[in-house]
Amino acid sequence: MTSWIALLYLLSAGLFILGLKGLTKVRSARRGNAQAALAMLIAIVATLLEIGIVDWRWIALGLVVGSAVGVFFALRVQMTQMPEMVALFNGSGGGASALVALATLWQVSVEPGAPGTLASVMGGASAFTLSLSIFIGALTFTGSIVAFLKLNRTLSGDPILLPGRHVINALLVAGSLGLGGYFALAVGDSSQIALYALVVTGLSLLLGVLLVIPIGGADMPVVISLLNSYSGIAAAATGFVIESPMLIIAGALVGASGLILTQIMCVAMNRSLANVLFGGFGAEPAAGDGGPADEYGPVRSGGPEEAAMLLDAAERIMIVPGYGLAVAQAQHAVRELADLVEKRGGSVEYAIHPVAGRMPGHMNVLLAEADVPYEQLLEMDRANADFKNVDVAIVVGANDVVNPAAQNTPGSPIAGMPVLEVWKARSVIVIKRSLSPGFAGIKNALFEGETTMMVFADAKQAIQGMTTELKEL
Ligand code: NDP
Repeated sequence: MTSWIALLYLLSAGLFILGLKGLTKVRSARRGNAQAALAMLIAIVATLLEIGIVDWRWIALGLVVGSAVGVFFALRVQMTQMPEMVALFNGSGGGASALVALATLWQVSVEPGAPGTLASVMGGASAFTLSLSIFIGALTFTGSIVAFLKLNRTLSGDPILLPGRHVINALLVAGSLGLGGYFALAVGDSSQIALYALVVTGLSLLLGVLLVIPIGGADMPVVISLLNSYSGIAAAATGFVIESPMLIIAGALVGASGLILTQIMCVAMNRSLANVLFGGFGAEPAAGDGGPADEYGPVRSGGPEEAAMLLDAAERIMIVPGYGLAVAQAQHAVRELADLVEKRGGSVEYAIHPVAGRMPGHMNVLLAEADVPYEQLLEMDRANADFKNVDVAIVVGANDVVNPAAQNTPGSPIAGMPVLEVWKARSVIVIKRSLSPGFAGIKNALFEGETTMMVFADAKQAIQGMTTELKEL
């Protein structure tokens, strides 16, 4: 029986790794997701068989309720709400790890009233890891809830900067780790251990809130991905506590991949992780060009008809999708327009910024949904090298990712963030409903550019209008 269980664990670990590999390519992503889900099911069944202490009726009930909630949300959630959903997933993972650690503490020490320190009952390393698991799990839980509330705008997206916050946070980290080490290694009385564990839980919950409220604006994706990594580390720590190799493997995979993604996001925004975590991005509007209060100078605008005339004369077209494309669900309309341009002898490509939209890979997912050929999607560096040869760049609901302030306004909140240099194209059509700012809340001088034509409309309606007009030319 034990070797069967070991084999199941091995199979599950292998499937997790294959699943992750599959998720690195759009074409194999669905398969990767299914493999990882199957791996999780196998891991759960193997664990239940191994431990064998559970009442199967409770497990069946949990499976039914959990699956119903999962299916309900999976069907209901909009693509634009995905980051919020991921934040909730991370929070649940962190919260679950902290709860398992607390339950273990209760089981091995508090309930039996075991004499001696926790370290003497379960070993020093496991006891200290248990306190770490409470610490990381609890702060991931509240940090993720705050990220969720910020993303769905229940809390303002602006950074909330408390005076002396770095000192408060440093004290909370030192207090949680110090007390955690103390109750794990030195306290001999089980009810005192329970009390200290609860204090550490409280401090860590507070720390999670305080760590995320000062972070705002365009830095939220990095926070979500970092919290994802924390939830994995918390799970791996819990795996050491309950001696579950499967949980250690799964947690380590999540922890490592979350960290790698965090690094990629930081590079895409040209911000160091320390700057994201402690910088209070967007706290003060930048002075001069790029600040939110700036008025726009004269802006040239036109309708779908004028835009279609530009397309009629163009051979090479680059589409730059952004968050507004997701809001308007304009991906199918964009594909139709691209098909028409190609039928008329033109070429169409898509310039993809790594943080366009509201989650990593947002634009790739939307365009894949409309069956846009993967070969037509250009990464940022490739697109930037090509813009000078492009006749018309069509910016569909993108704003921050095409803002020249990132390059020419040192004081701007997005200064240094790599952007798509659409202004190098011969003409630029920008489709959005107004001159309102994007996620970073700042002015975009592209809209006043001499070669820019604004089409003020919902992205889907504008693109459909352009297709209709182009058919008539
Ligand atoms: P932005 O948020 O900068 O701009 C989106 C624009 O879309 C808005 O200015 C809005 O203008 C327009 N828009 C909204 N609805 C519609 C609609 N129905 N039709 C047409 N236009 C519409 O988006 P970007 O994609 O350029 O940049 C992404 C930003 O989000 C970056 O700052 C990034 O750092 C941040 N971010 C990215 C995440 C990620 O992982 N990708 C996660 C969280 C944040 P108007 O109201 O005038 O129509």
